[in-house]
This record gives sequence, C-alpha cells and structure tokens, in this order.
Amino acid sequence: MEKTKKFILTEKELPTHWYNIVAEMQNKPLPILNPATKQPMKEEELYPLFAKELSHQELNQTDAWIEIPEEVRDKYKIYRPTPLVRAYDLEKALDTPAHIYFKNESVSPVGSHKLNTALAQAYYCKQEGVTHLTTETGAGQWGTALAFAAKTFGLELVVYMVKISYEQKPYRRSLMQTWGAQVIASPSMSTNAGRKILSEHPNYLGSLGTAISEAIELAMQTPNCKYTLGSVLNHVSLHQTVIGLEAEKQMEMAGEYPDIVIGCFGGGSNFSGISFPFLRHNIKDGKKTRFIAAEPASCPKLTRGVFEYDFGDEVGYTPLLPMFTLGHNFAPAHIHAGGLRYHGAGTIVSQLKKDNLVEAVDIDQLDSFKAGVLFAQTEGIVPAPESAHAIAVAINEALKAKEEGTPKTILFNLSGHGMVDMTAYDQYFAGDLTNYSLSENDIAENVKILEHLVK
Ligand SMILES: *Cc1c(COP(=O)(O)O)cnc(C)c1O
Repeated sequence: MEKTKKFILTEKELPTHWYNIVAEMQNKPLPILNPATKQPMKEEELYPLFAKELSHQELNQTDAWIEIPEEVRDKYKIYRPTPLVRAYDLEKALDTPAHIYFKNESVSPVGSHKLNTALAQAYYCKQEGVTHLTTETGAGQWGTALAFAAKTFGLELVVYMVKISYEQKPYRRSLMQTWGAQVIASPSMSTNAGRKILSEHPNYLGSLGTAISEAIELAMQTPNCKYTLGSVLNHVSLHQTVIGLEAEKQMEMAGEYPDIVIGCFGGGSNFSGISFPFLRHNIKDGKKTRFIAAEPASCPKLTRGVFEYDFGDEVGYTPLLPMFTLGHNFAPAHIHAGGLRYHGAGTIVSQLKKDNLVEAVDIDQLDSFKAGVLFAQTEGIVPAPESAHAIAVAINEALKAKEEGTPKTILFNLSGHGMVDMTAYDQYFAGDLTNYSLSENDIAENVKILEHLVK
C-alpha cells in the first residue's frame, strides 16, 4: 500500500480562532501580582508594557476561542498551514511499532514557530498606533521572528541579544539586521539594568532574564514603544495554539489520535501550542493523552524547580508570576539550546503541571544532539538544538513502546530547524560538548531568594 507521509491542509483550512485553554481549566492559574502592592494585576496596569489587546488576552479567563485577525491570517499564509509528517524512516531506524508524527514548524521563513506570535503581537501594536518595539532574544530565534514581523507591520525594533549567543550565533544577528532591527549584546551599558550587572560581573555572558530587564527598561523610556515577549506569557501560548489546532485536523486525516504529545520547553509556548488543543479533549471528552514537556537537564524548572511567585526577569521589572522556577537569578549553563535557557515556566503550564495534567522530563545536552543527528539522518531535517530535546523524548517513548510491544501514536512539535546552529553541531562532532548537572543543593540555594518575595 502506498504510504502517505505528509498531511497538508489548504489555506482555507487555516484555523480562524486561537484556543484559550484557561477558559476551560478547572483550576485557573493563580493571578499575576503587582510587585509593589502584591495585589492581582489589572488589565490597565499592563498597558504601559503591552498593547491593550494583548493585555486583554493575557488576563482573559472566559473566552475559549479568540479570533485571529484577518491581517494576521493573511500573513500566516506565507508558511501556514504547516505540514504534519509521519516519520517512517525514524520509526524504521528505531525498529519500533510506535507511529511517530511531527508538526513541522521549521518551514516558517524565520525557521521556527516564533513567527506565529510575532506577527500577532506586531499587528496589535500597529493597530493601536505604537511605532517602536523592544525585546530580548536568547539564541536569536525570537529576535529574528519579531524583526520580520516588525518590518511587515512597519515598526522599528531594538533587540537585546544574550551576549553568549550574540557571539556564538552571528548569523541570527545578521538575519535580524536583514529585516531591519537594531541588535545590542546584553548585558549592555545602554540601560541601568545592564550597567548594574556589568559592574558586579564584568565578564557576564548574559541570560534571558537580564536581556528582558534591559528591553523593558528601554520600552518604558521610549515614547510610543511597547515591549514584547516571545514565550512564557499567556497571550504567547494562545497564539501558538494554531500549531495544535492544525495538527488536530491533520491527525484526523491520518486516521489517528496521539497517545503522547511532546514539545521542547523553554518558557512553554511551543509545548502549549502543540498540546492545548489536544489537552482540551482530555479535559472535556475524557481522552487520556499524555503531554510531555522536554526540558534541558541544565535548566530543569518543571522537573526540579519550585512552584512559587517569581519575577520573569533578572532585575525584577515584571509582574510576579506563579510558576515553576529555579529563581530569577538562576544562571543556566551555556548549553547550545539557547531558547531553553530560561529560569521559569509559563503560568498556565505551571498550573497544569501542578495538577498533573502535563508531565516533564529533562534531557542531557549530549542525548539531545544524538537524537538530533539521528533525526537529521532519517528525516532529512537538521533540527534546532531546542527541538532536539523533543525528538529525544519521542525516541525514548518509541523505544519504550517497542519494549512493551504497544503501537503508541506519538506526536511531537519540530519547533525549528538548526541550519543556523551548525557551530553547535560542529562542537558536538568534535567532542567538545558536555552535560551539565545541577545538585539539589545548587537548586535549593538558588530558590532561597523567593522566600520573601510575596510573604
Ligand atoms: C524559542 C524556541 C524554543 C523555546 O521556547 P518555548 O516558548 O518554550 O517554545 C524552542 N524551540 C525553538 C526552535 C525556539 O526558537
């Protein structure tokens, strides 16, 4: 029998609405707090930072479906709907009875899922007359996505890029510059936050937390300027549900339903995007799908962090977020999956994890690259080092299915390709990469800082 490898939707089948899982969660995430008053943030309090519509989406606990604006859908069409692919050759290499599917978000022009929310955020900002945006970027994926989105909607953009990535990933910087963004290595001398950190640690190679502080500070000081974030927040996860909503239709075309859904986990947006539309059926229709977040062993907030109120950034400019965290001062090892080097998990996923509706596992750096190379050799796509974490979990689950002799259906999100990350692969092949493990003591010491934040 001829096998179908790719499940393709037409442009007409592009989802018209995003899915807001909060409206259907029994236990809602705890409120985010104003750090000065320790009271729940009101929508208006978010306006200085974010576009009004995004602030509204951030706190929306009632509407399960939110319309995707026409202009955003129109732009999505340059790469969406993205293909769902059955990984026959990976299955064969593993000699597994499991069926492995992946949703290919690497086909976006910027190479990752991040454009799904970048276009939406830039659009809403443009709508309300904003002229300038600031943001931070780790590995550079978010910065590149927002650079293209800002250009699309005629906005000026400044990106604070974590210094280690600025140096390790010069091509991402070039991409941002190609799309017209100004890129600054963080920590920088251009903000109080950057100057403070540099005066204490002159050689600090940066973290997402620091870069966020710098981007927020610049946004607050610049007229007509908003800050944007590419992960962690509820509205970001909301926009990413377009991934899972398409995948739901495509799995139906394949005549299957996933037993296991997997996404790599930085702040949680691509994991949320692939998971929430399926998790909806666990909540509403009694389905028993497992949802697994794949995080790096060097930054294991979901598997080993604590559930506490914490800041989203290093300096403490953001609201207090109820989340699994390693502490906002956590400095993760310089693994190549830069997009996963974030200390906390989004508040929705944190609540879902607390309620045992989703699971998490951590993956060592070397195992992630081993999985990434096997995937490249069987399916042809060199995965982003971040996505390789999801692949590693998919492989482990497929091997478990083989041991147990159960034909599980596994779906993972290929969040991006790794064509701009080849230095990382070079170092892996040269044997220059290592695993990083954290002791219980390292973690306990670090989360001490949270004890007096709220109480
Ligand atoms: C940013 C990024 C991630 C991690 O971010 P999430 O918000 O957790 O999805 C994962 N994969 C790729 C390719 C990325 O660019």
